[in-house]
Amino acid sequence: MASPCVELSNQMKMPILGLGTWQASPGKVEEVVKHAIDAGYRHLDCAYFYQNEHEIGNAVQQKIKEGAVKREDLFIVTKLWNTFHEKSMVKEGCKRSLAALQLDYLDLYLIHFPMGFKAGEDLMPTDDKGMAIPSDTDFLDTWEAMEELVDCGMVKSIGVSNFNHEQIERILNKPGLKYKPGKTFISTDIECHPYLTQEKLIKYCQSKGIAVTAYSPLGSPNRPWAKPGEPLLLEDPKIKEIAARYNKTPAQVLIRFNVQRNMAVIPKSDKVQRIKENIKVFDFELSKKEMGVILSFNRNWRAVPVAQAVNHKDYPFKAEY
Ligand code: NDP
Repeated sequence: MASPCVELSNQMKMPILGLGTWQASPGKVEEVVKHAIDAGYRHLDCAYFYQNEHEIGNAVQQKIKEGAVKREDLFIVTKLWNTFHEKSMVKEGCKRSLAALQLDYLDLYLIHFPMGFKAGEDLMPTDDKGMAIPSDTDFLDTWEAMEELVDCGMVKSIGVSNFNHEQIERILNKPGLKYKPGKTFISTDIECHPYLTQEKLIKYCQSKGIAVTAYSPLGSPNRPWAKPGEPLLLEDPKIKEIAARYNKTPAQVLIRFNVQRNMAVIPKSDKVQRIKENIKVFDFELSKKEMGVILSFNRNWRAVPVAQAVNHKDYPFKAEY
């Protein structure tokens, strides 16, 4: 089953629909990934931080062994965690992910956040006030080490996640930059849904030839820090109304909204029925007017604000975009 793709500037094709795996339940995620591959998913969004790469690796290996899929049919993305930003540690971070995923190479490797944290096995080092302890690293040095991973064949493409446009611009303007959009490419992962439409950042990235992936496309209802009274995208009556018009679910409309903006979209689910539902978004099209209406729901609301790192020198979410 061919999956529609976003074309990257290094000619690689990233399947538009990917499976998110943050908080995919331990002990369950292996089955979930197998079902997703059977349902037609060819793009998996992973991260060292999610601590479930080994289970995802088991699922991928089993599906390859049984002939359901070939390695080259899959687009596997994972991310360098904040505690590995020192130049000398980037390769180790990547090696750990490759080992857990049981892979020889990654299709795309992202710097998870622009913020380096204190190195060590504690993935969320915090001080006595509960705030993240930074490292004194500069993401330009981290990027150089990411470029070396391409050179040694461990990863095919590199990119960033959660960088604002000024931070992306710093990479693009880095003297001696080796991999840039248009030559190989960089790709970026950003939170994106109708309450955080990211119009300026998407326009900026796409103008530079940077492919964009929308994370938390359903508004991340399961985020651990959710508070009563915060917006619930999947329950939004106006989204429900549009969904009913097409005999689709609110989740399908939310996913389709970003697909039509030429982005990859990576909804997460642990449930087989929902995994199947979330990929059935290629048989309807939202009208231009509906796209405009959904864009107007923007309220610059973030599901993933990373509040414990708000004082970090490289905290990305204070900039306008
Ligand atoms: P999503 O917006 O994808 O929402 C996931 C939640 O929605 C889960 O609780 C899931 O429940 C529920 N859900 C899924 N499908 C449906 C459906 N059809 N109907 C109703 N509810 C549904 O949130 P995430 O924050 O997980 O974002 C998706 C992925 O993006 C992550 O898993 C991760 O891979 C990536 N991500 C990347 C980040 C980064 O920093 N780069 C940050 C955050 C996310 P259930 O599982 O029970 O079905």
